[in-house]
Amino acid sequence: MTIQNTPATRHLTLIIPVYNEADGLRRHLDEILQRLKALPASVSADLLIVDDGSTDATPGIAQALCEQRSDVSLLVLNRNFGKEAAIMAGLDHADADAVVVMDSDLQHPPALLPKMVELWLGGADVVEAVKISRDTRSGLYRYFANVFYRLFDALTGLDLHNHSDYKLLDRKVIEAYRSLPERTRFFRGLVNWMHFPAAQIPFEEPAREAGESKWGALCLLKLSWQSISSFTALPLQLVTVLGGVTFLVSLLLGAKALYDKLSGQALDGFTTVILLLLIIGSVLMFSLGLLGSYVARIYDEIKARPHYLLDHNNSRLPSMASSENDREG
Ligand code: UDP
Ligand code: MG
Repeated sequence: MTIQNTPATRHLTLIIPVYNEADGLRRHLDEILQRLKALPASVSADLLIVDDGSTDATPGIAQALCEQRSDVSLLVLNRNFGKEAAIMAGLDHADADAVVVMDSDLQHPPALLPKMVELWLGGADVVEAVKISRDTRSGLYRYFANVFYRLFDALTGLDLHNHSDYKLLDRKVIEAYRSLPERTRFFRGLVNWMHFPAAQIPFEEPAREAGESKWGALCLLKLSWQSISSFTALPLQLVTVLGGVTFLVSLLLGAKALYDKLSGQALDGFTTVILLLLIIGSVLMFSLGLLGSYVARIYDEIKARPHYLLDHNNSRLPSMASSENDREG
């Protein structure tokens, strides 16, 4: 009896953003490629590595792999634009029925790929891998991650607790994501916001295999605020509430001060004046800062600069030779 090979009918591209990952990259990519063999015969797959302006040997390692294998391609951004931009570049250039976005450090276990594909073939447009533990992260990291997700949920109504960027997206989700006009992107939030039929796979996040995390504490803080302010203007409305509260307090204090004055009990009140000045001053400065950060967001959006710029000389993309006018942005 001869076994007939079913021709692949759907194509999947794995988008892997990398930034200064030379340490261990080749081993990680080999492991990911190895796992692709477990996908159903009806699905063909390839890798699209997006180098986010690495300054170490990362692009060279990725180029060497591209030269060896026809199922690996490489996009090189001409400087570090950040992971969100790298994901965007991958989505702009992947020509597939679905993509999986995954980290290069094996913290997004490639062993989940067959299950993700199975759920996609079963009808899910989005398959998200959700962390069930973050034990590999420091206690402080977990605490702040928790605070961020609670705050994000309270302000936007989207519960992204333990969500990750490890997601499979069907073609229609990719198109919808690319058609969103905004520049400041929060990938996992926007995918959730688009609300396509989604399936979830829980996974234990393993420790980083090699190298170190690219996010310092300050960078994470900046990203957290960027994510919240790109999603909701509610903090601006909270400023009005804050104004209301200080107004009420000032009415009470004003009435008391007047009463003290009229009844002849008015004291020097120097401390009270200083305290009031400090409180009102900081509320005003805080409100101005908040307003300023939203104005800055509008400024960034209006400039409408591209999300990323490509380094055409170092990229290795099959379509690149023929396409002169790559869509950047
Ligand atoms: N990354 C990127 N651009 C950056 C920072 C990170 O493309 O500016 C990539 C990085 O190489 C890795 C993935 O994004 O493949 C996740 O980064 P990392 O492991 O540092 O994040 P963490 O797992 O600590 O959240
Ligand atoms: Mg990582």
